[in-house]
Amino acid sequence: MEDPVGQPGAGRLRHGDTVSDIPRYPLLIGGRRVETESWSRIVSPATGDVVGEIADATVEDADAAVKAAEAAWPEWSRVPPVERGAALERYARLLDDHAPRLAELMHAEMGKPLPEAQAEIARANEVVHYFAAEAERLWASQVPGPTLATGSWIRPSPLGVVASITPWNFPVALIVWKLAPALAAGNAMVAKPANEAPLTAWSVCELAIEAGLPDGLVNCVPGDGPTLGEALCTHPAVAKVAFTGSRRVAEQISAWVAPRLKALSLELGGHGPLVVLPDADLDQVAEVATVQGYANAGQACYSVNRVLVPRELEGDVRERIAARIADLELGPLVTQRGHLRHRRLLADAAARGATVLGGEDIEGRRVEPALVTGAGPGVELIDEEPFTPIVAIMPFDDVESAVAEANRPDYGLVGYLCGGDLGTSLEVAQQIQCGTVVVNGWRVVVPYAPYAGWRGSGVGAELGRPGLEAFIRWQHLRVLS
Ligand code: NAD
Repeated sequence: MEDPVGQPGAGRLRHGDTVSDIPRYPLLIGGRRVETESWSRIVSPATGDVVGEIADATVEDADAAVKAAEAAWPEWSRVPPVERGAALERYARLLDDHAPRLAELMHAEMGKPLPEAQAEIARANEVVHYFAAEAERLWASQVPGPTLATGSWIRPSPLGVVASITPWNFPVALIVWKLAPALAAGNAMVAKPANEAPLTAWSVCELAIEAGLPDGLVNCVPGDGPTLGEALCTHPAVAKVAFTGSRRVAEQISAWVAPRLKALSLELGGHGPLVVLPDADLDQVAEVATVQGYANAGQACYSVNRVLVPRELEGDVRERIAARIADLELGPLVTQRGHLRHRRLLADAAARGATVLGGEDIEGRRVEPALVTGAGPGVELIDEEPFTPIVAIMPFDDVESAVAEANRPDYGLVGYLCGGDLGTSLEVAQQIQCGTVVVNGWRVVVPYAPYAGWRGSGVGAELGRPGLEAFIRWQHLRVLS
């Protein structure tokens, strides 16, 4: 299929090409803006406009960024936690001041509808405020010995240099979930944002410098995923790799990191089930399925993908969701790859006897939301994360079978449940094998609770106390006399 928009980030320029007044985003290394030989154009998937040009880092640039971070973190880690928290709070306030501009930029570079972009920036900034306050609370604890001067001090110590590799679908949130706790715990960071939408992520790094955080604490090296991924994941001075993205890339990153015994966190895709109990409020079911099924045009790890309904309610639930999506306008699919997958998944489901409502192309990479019935295990969109705006309804005869289907695919990120009786709802919710289960509603992420992929959805956790402790190692200082 011909791509009517063009690949974001695909147009490489060489040094000296005419660039007119398109804004340029150089590398950020050691607190300085660093020009490169090669630049990539970022093209809006919604309009086809060139939004900016971003520097393509080389392996040498990645090495320079790691060395800058290596030089910066020891002193930062000795800054008393209260002062570290105050510096991060200044950064959080600067992000608040720039929120409207950041949301506009995200809207421009990836076509995310402005209200969704504004919400992402607002939620991400809450995370920076939260971890600024957590920095103060990251204290050692003591177990006294036989005398006052003896005993065990159990103290948190930073890891050192953290490399962050993130995707384009929530380009700011996914960096901030790593950056804020890493800095709060006394580490430095080298960030490699996604090629498709690097500009807002770059701006978040740049504002860390503008906020007066020490040079080298936050570095940004955009560019080719495999090249920079290998450079960062195999670098001897990188202590931890924090990755969000696809399972395919996660396996490659693990292969680099595991033999080098670095710390690793992986936040991967999901295949969200929404379990509907017989006494559920069906308007609420339709709202959860619609809001979470089609948010970010389905390009969300926490999407509702399968609505598991009692058989007798299937028609009613289908009608209610269909009514809600009739006028729903989505932002574009950000990549041509995603657009092709959307077409392929729906064609495959239809060929296997499923009924597809909507899902048609509108223009460019804009598509209608799709609602699928009559598809079961063995159909690709039921077994693999669609990552496009597709919700499937699957009927069940009893709650046990619905829970078994919820847990069947090798994913475990976010599950949802709607039910009337709260006791029964909580009992069933605990059987859903996901790091997050949302009961009777749809807001998933809060700064103070961990967000973790179970099974094929990842390793480790972000946000909350576990998301802070993911960036420290514990030292036991045993004082014997
Ligand atoms: P991706 O894995 O293709 O890319 C993610 C990052 O890895 C990008 O920065 C990319 O440049 C880089 N990369 C690509 N190839 C690489 C390689 N060989 N070595 C090292 N780095 C490489 O992911 P994507 O398609 O951009 O993102 C979509 C996936 O991310 C979906 O599965 C989605 O569910 C998942 N996701 C998960 C979460 C979560 O918190 N669990 C959040 C958002 C997205």
